[in-house]
Amino acid sequence: MLSETATPTRPRGLSDLPPVTSDSLLALIAMAKADPREDKIDVGVGVFRDASGRTPILKVMKAAEARLLATQDSKSYLGGSGDIRFTDLIRPILLGSHAGDERIAGLQTPGGCGALRLGFELVATANPDARVLVGRPTWPNHQPVIEGVGLEIVDYPYYERDSREIRFDDMVAALKAARAGDVALLHGCCHNPTGADLDAGQWAEVTRIVAERGLLPLVDIAYQGFGRGLEEDAAGLRGILDACDEVIVAQSCDKNFSVYRDRVGSLFVKTAAPAASKTAMAHVLQLAREMWSMPPDHGAAAVRIILDDADLRAAWLIELEAMRTRINDVRRRIAAADPRLAYIGRQFGMFSMLPLSKEQVVALRERHAIYMADSGRFNVVGMSDDALPRFLAAVTEALDG
Ligand code: PLP
Repeated sequence: MLSETATPTRPRGLSDLPPVTSDSLLALIAMAKADPREDKIDVGVGVFRDASGRTPILKVMKAAEARLLATQDSKSYLGGSGDIRFTDLIRPILLGSHAGDERIAGLQTPGGCGALRLGFELVATANPDARVLVGRPTWPNHQPVIEGVGLEIVDYPYYERDSREIRFDDMVAALKAARAGDVALLHGCCHNPTGADLDAGQWAEVTRIVAERGLLPLVDIAYQGFGRGLEEDAAGLRGILDACDEVIVAQSCDKNFSVYRDRVGSLFVKTAAPAASKTAMAHVLQLAREMWSMPPDHGAAAVRIILDDADLRAAWLIELEAMRTRINDVRRRIAAADPRLAYIGRQFGMFSMLPLSKEQVVALRERHAIYMADSGRFNVVGMSDDALPRFLAAVTEALDG
């Protein structure tokens, strides 16, 4: 019986939640937004911007959306796999000659993030003791997604910011030290945050070790077409598929179709036999059901319309090439501005890292209204053409110390 003086202990509730250390990139975006200076430059956010500094909707996407609006006659459920035709059309673009392999099963996901989460959930279901080898630095969301499913991370150094080089020997050593069944998380192309992609020889070496040691490669490919070209950017992944019986691929259309907020992606899982792939896909569907049940339709339906129509597909390829050309042009301009920035011309995708201290990054923010991640990561197409000279002047001044 409760004594009259005892205060009943209140169960912990929503009001007792501890504070969250927010994703530093999201905090940076908010800070840049709040800055009233008109000439501010936000190279922190990870979206493509054109020469005028805008992130436009692709013309081909507008056309596909108009067609979708005119022809869609139901919004009834599609099922856990989402738009199956969408996934079928992504297959050859992503998997190349492996597209017809019955051991590879796929489904639509809410963006690349959804695919990553689902892929790691599948790993945790199949083998909760698997550890995930993660080269540092990596995209900041990798760690929370992996830890969120309860898998252990094993770090290794991937890139040396100050020497501007991939630490390939360290990567090889880490892969060689891994246990069979461990996951090797690999960036398919346009490495985020470093822009430093493995070359063909390095991919071959990594592939050989992964296959020999029985590691499970999980290829995260969110920027296909932003580096060298659609085919070239998938070459590493295709080599992995040549060599390995078990592979997970997390794919995103959010960048190469410029539909970031529409959340378009897919997950592909390869196992040793078609029957095992069917079983794996049944698990994937169950896991998806527990999280989001079904992926959102709109963006994937518009991508499907584009890829299903020869004219629209050709128009997309032209717009994708224009985005890639701008990224690589800006890279060349930055590289030509100062010998200390020459490495940026040899890297790929939207991101590279500047060898700046945190204090220098803060000074750029305070003195010049230039916003980049504390790590020195910046979006090479984050600023308009007009703003580029001012950006370069401020960065070279910062590098002078
Ligand atoms: N993987 C990497 C390396 C990324 O940089 C991103 C997005 O920034 C994603 C996955 C996820 O992309 P999405 O916006 O489609 O979820």
